[in-house]
Amino acid sequence: MRALTIDEHGGLDRLRFRDDLPSPSLEADDDVRVRVHAAALNHLDLWVVRGVPGVRISPGWILGSDCAGVVDAVGPAVTSVRVGDRVVLNPGVSDRTCEYCRTGDNPLCLRFGILGEHRPGVLADFVVVPAANVLTIPDTLSFVTAAAFPLATLTAWRMLVTRAQVRDTDQVLVQGIGGGVALASLQIAKSRAARVWVTSGSDAKLERARALGADELLNRHTCDIAKEVRARTGKRGVDVVIDCVGEATWASSLGALGKRGRIVTCGGTSGPNLQTDVRRLFWNQWTIMGSTMGSDAEFAAIVQELKAGRLEPPVDSVHPLERGADAFARLQSGEQFGKVVVTMETE
Ligand SMILES: [Zn+2]
Repeated sequence: MRALTIDEHGGLDRLRFRDDLPSPSLEADDDVRVRVHAAALNHLDLWVVRGVPGVRISPGWILGSDCAGVVDAVGPAVTSVRVGDRVVLNPGVSDRTCEYCRTGDNPLCLRFGILGEHRPGVLADFVVVPAANVLTIPDTLSFVTAAAFPLATLTAWRMLVTRAQVRDTDQVLVQGIGGGVALASLQIAKSRAARVWVTSGSDAKLERARALGADELLNRHTCDIAKEVRARTGKRGVDVVIDCVGEATWASSLGALGKRGRIVTCGGTSGPNLQTDVRRLFWNQWTIMGSTMGSDAEFAAIVQELKAGRLEPPVDSVHPLERGADAFARLQSGEQFGKVVVTMETE
């Protein structure tokens, strides 16, 4: 089968298109094999190419976490889907037996793994996953849209709905609009009737965010984010900040955060080391929350939103698998607005 792979870590010049890999076989009784029709990139894929501390890959490593396709084979214990079903995949694989899984907290699983990082990825003609990671999608939904959906939306859903519990009285600041998690955060916050502030270094991205419902636009190059938020809210600040940018934005995130504020992070694309003044933390009674991926219940919830047409991921561009390196370059450029998708259809 075809796949986009790396043999070792490094820059994007390590990416290697292969068409000589064996198709994966079903291993467990509850496994499902999916013929991938479309896959989407995440920042995680860039980290995997560069190398994630503590995560080892083998040569011919297949990249990619997000995909949609058609069920191609099922193990004898699978009852939830059938061969021929159109499906979208939850990229987080958990054992569903440890103490965290048993309480519905799959992302805390002691044996948690993500497709493309800890398990073979989806930038290939076929992928094998447990049936619990597969949900059906209607014929009316394109594979490109479905593939662009899972990881970013699942991550954002857990951050906003489960962790910060955003409600209609909240003002929510989303840092770095344009990336998948930030855009999904904007859409989810608006779906809960919150007032949403977005930041970017690009006026074009801010205007596109306005079209998706953003209420307040802040260009980090032309204003001091924290000062501007304070000025526009009568010094009050916002209730919730969604910050996955990290080092570059943390100070402005805290500067914009009001009393009793909640700040949620799922990563740090600009760097991992954050500074927080403990005096402001306790005085303002802030809550700092980490979050990653989502549970089976959260995945079911977001796929329901997708099917109902309430959440649809913006797609930046679509690239054929053979030119998957172009897709990675697009993501690395930071110029994208929405998901960068790879399609398996032959040119
Ligand atoms: Zn577990």
